[in-house]
Amino acid sequence: MGAAATTEARLTIDTGAIIANWRALGARHAAAVAGVLKADAYGLGAAPVGRALRDAGCAHFFVAHAAEGVALRAALGPGPMIAVLNGFAPGDATGVLPVVNTLEMAQAWSGRGPVLLHVDTGMARLGLDAAMLDTLPPLDLRYVMSHLACADEPAHPLNAVQRARFAAVAARLPGVATSLANSSGIFLGYASNLARPGAALYGINPQPAGANPMRCVLRLDAPILQLRDVPAGTPVGYGAAWVAPRDSRIGIVAAGYADGYLRSLSGRGVGLLAGRPVPVVGRVSMDLTAFDVTGMAARAGDAITLIGPDNPPDAVAARAGTIGYEILTALGARYRRRYA
Ligand SMILES: *Cc1c(COP(=O)(O)O)cnc(C)c1O
Repeated sequence: MGAAATTEARLTIDTGAIIANWRALGARHAAAVAGVLKADAYGLGAAPVGRALRDAGCAHFFVAHAAEGVALRAALGPGPMIAVLNGFAPGDATGVLPVVNTLEMAQAWSGRGPVLLHVDTGMARLGLDAAMLDTLPPLDLRYVMSHLACADEPAHPLNAVQRARFAAVAARLPGVATSLANSSGIFLGYASNLARPGAALYGINPQPAGANPMRCVLRLDAPILQLRDVPAGTPVGYGAAWVAPRDSRIGIVAAGYADGYLRSLSGRGVGLLAGRPVPVVGRVSMDLTAFDVTGMAARAGDAITLIGPDNPPDAVAARAGTIGYEILTALGARYRRRYA
């Protein structure tokens, strides 16, 4: 192995597990299941993830930005639908479909080609108000869609409200295909013609209150660059925020907040060294993080697993005070990436 092999962190993405997750979602949803690939497939790589899903039979993709859609079209070639959630003006992109979110965009797209229509049913984020359907200009509608605000909280009353409002919207657009559920919405049993999961494809738990039915799809291994034996009382890292309470052995690994190992994991993160938990000590730096490996047979070049099946994104997120989605989308560009 070259020098890079022992000094760079490795991100391994299991496209087989992503496909298995997509199929598992398909088994739960009565109709088609898309792949949501916005934000570079939640940090995992829109082109390789999109190709793997396409080869598995996925025919519908969603991204947030027109530029993401154009890049995905180049990666996938002709065929699958690629819809742009944030919309775009006619002429601004080709090979992708806009999601029309406002009456102004509806007017701009009237007579200018196929679109999806987003109607807000209770999230007050993107989408037309249902009342605006009264003045909707003629559109070539491929789907009418809405987005659930609280699908990860099955008991939240807004879920049923949104479902009922969406049913009323769909009834006003007879013959137009529907798209409602995100990952968690599939687990609510909210069927439509096309589900739009993102997070669950990538192993995030769609039902946070219960056991995670999805497979973990990534593994982030950061090599130990240097081991250091420090006597009790030695401060470690910026701000001297951690002081060794006893003689300690510290492993400095090649990943930091610039790589998406969030600074809020300072003093709280946990990695796995040869399967055993090792705590982050002190502050996470931009490119480096210190772990307490006292008493372990660690050597320089050994990898600490920062994220993986036994330390999944949701668990890392809980320690960082965020959600698994942010752990994934924050994943840095500097890792050596391998698609398995
Ligand atoms: C991000 C997004 C999704 C996917 O949501 P997940 O919770 O990741 O499954 C679906 N629809 C819309 C409109 C979105 O913005």
